[in-house]
Amino acid sequence: MINKREFLKGSAAMLAVAATSRAGAAAAGKSAPRTNWSGNYRYHAPQLFEPSTVAEVQQAVRSATNVHALGSRHSFNGVADSSVAQISMLKINDVQLDTQVHTVTVGAGIKYGDLARQLDQRGYAVHNLASLPHISVAGAVSTATHGSGMKNGNLSSAVTGIEFVAADGSLHQLTRKDNPDVFPGAIVALGALGIMTKVTLKVEPSFQMTQVVYRNLSFSELEHNLAAIMQSAYSVSLFTNWQDHRCNQVWLKRRVDQGGAEKPPALFYNATLATRKMHPIDDHPAEACTDQENKIGPWYERLPHFRMNFTPSSGEEIQSEFFVPFEHGYEAIMAVETLRDQITPHLYASEFRTIAADDLWLSMAYQRPSLALHFTWKREPEAVAKIVPQIEAKLAPFAVRPHWAKVFTMKTDPLYSRLNDFKALAAKYDPQGKFRNDFVRKCLYE
Ligand SMILES: Cc1cc2nc3c(=O)[nH]c(=O)nc-3n(C[C@H](O)[C@H](O)[C@H](O)COP(=O)(O)OP(=O)(O)OC[C@H]3O[C@@H](n4cnc5c(N)ncnc54)[C@H](O)[C@@H]3O)c2cc1C
Repeated sequence: MINKREFLKGSAAMLAVAATSRAGAAAAGKSAPRTNWSGNYRYHAPQLFEPSTVAEVQQAVRSATNVHALGSRHSFNGVADSSVAQISMLKINDVQLDTQVHTVTVGAGIKYGDLARQLDQRGYAVHNLASLPHISVAGAVSTATHGSGMKNGNLSSAVTGIEFVAADGSLHQLTRKDNPDVFPGAIVALGALGIMTKVTLKVEPSFQMTQVVYRNLSFSELEHNLAAIMQSAYSVSLFTNWQDHRCNQVWLKRRVDQGGAEKPPALFYNATLATRKMHPIDDHPAEACTDQENKIGPWYERLPHFRMNFTPSSGEEIQSEFFVPFEHGYEAIMAVETLRDQITPHLYASEFRTIAADDLWLSMAYQRPSLALHFTWKREPEAVAKIVPQIEAKLAPFAVRPHWAKVFTMKTDPLYSRLNDFKALAAKYDPQGKFRNDFVRKCLYE
């Protein structure tokens, strides 16, 4: 959670340091100011460790008084920050596929895009991906990062086991099979349980997909058809700028083994098939986007919106996202629509996606099928700080949960019924709060 003062302070400082900052200090020690990917958040940790082995991770954890894992830096708030030291896991990225039990065990820092290529070469896939392939596996599963699809759980729901370093430097394993009582608390952990060194994910046989885009879907169609629309493809995303009571774009990602190669109809709930490749932000060039126009391609080049070697989204941006129970999805959209004239001037694009319910204690989709309302803001921190609480207030009647990795201001501790169990689990591996940063303290402990 970010309070308004801190948010503005951090963001203003950013503009001054963004040009010189980078996450690659050579070893533990003082480094230049460093920022997240977007440049809207400046890390406070003076030290950055970049271990290449698990033994080096253990040594770094033992040596630091306060420490937090760092992935690929794509979060928009202080969730990966520390007052003393961060441990970047990007150099620990090996891949071990087990074709007997259909799992892959990866070094925690591997990026989904790199993993996907290696998996596909060997005939395997993961069930879903986020809008971008650039993020690390451990960073994504720690914040319940998701794609879309009525039947698709978030990326953490594919985890079957983890290995991690606890606060005293000891190494631990937890698996869904052997530790069913605590495993659901250990995956979406915001880095507060320890430093994951390995993550094991379920895999399935590789599959091919197509992607088509429709333009101008009226919000009126959502009133009675939201479920039908969201289940009309393996993964569905609706984009809007909140004006004219419509979604500007509908992205349908279809599996070829589920009819995805069939010619798409010209009309989809009265939206019209796009005649050119589109970027979710209408006037951005579409080169950075994965192929559309019903071209068949591998799962990892259709599930994300953006291609690996291109800048995803806009770059100079801030993101927020809010999850409501799917059954209240349409009402939630209508509630936010009342703020359209305050939202649109500061927005690149909003997106609606669905996430299947899961059992992960701190997941935004914990025990409820969810509709996610996402906002890619222009990098205008003052305006964002004003509008986000208004959106939160509109969504409060629907027991809204904010995305852990994006900008929000609301209190989160009442939203998770297993929070005390999570704290007990964290206390077991981190009795003194070595992995607790300001973000975790504010969101989970105040
Ligand atoms: C352009 C863009 C598009 C995005 N699209 C989506 C989307 O489609 N869906 C979605 O849900 N989110 C999306 N996000 C948000 C993004 O998925 C999350 O911020 C994700 O957590 C980023 O992973 P990361 O590797 O950058 O982690 P970081 O931001 O570096 O860290 C995030 C958290 O993971 C923890 N962590 C990292 N590594 C470890 C480890 N080894 N052990 C323990 N904890 C660890 C950190 O401590 C921190 O708490 C997007 C972000 C951007 C910038």
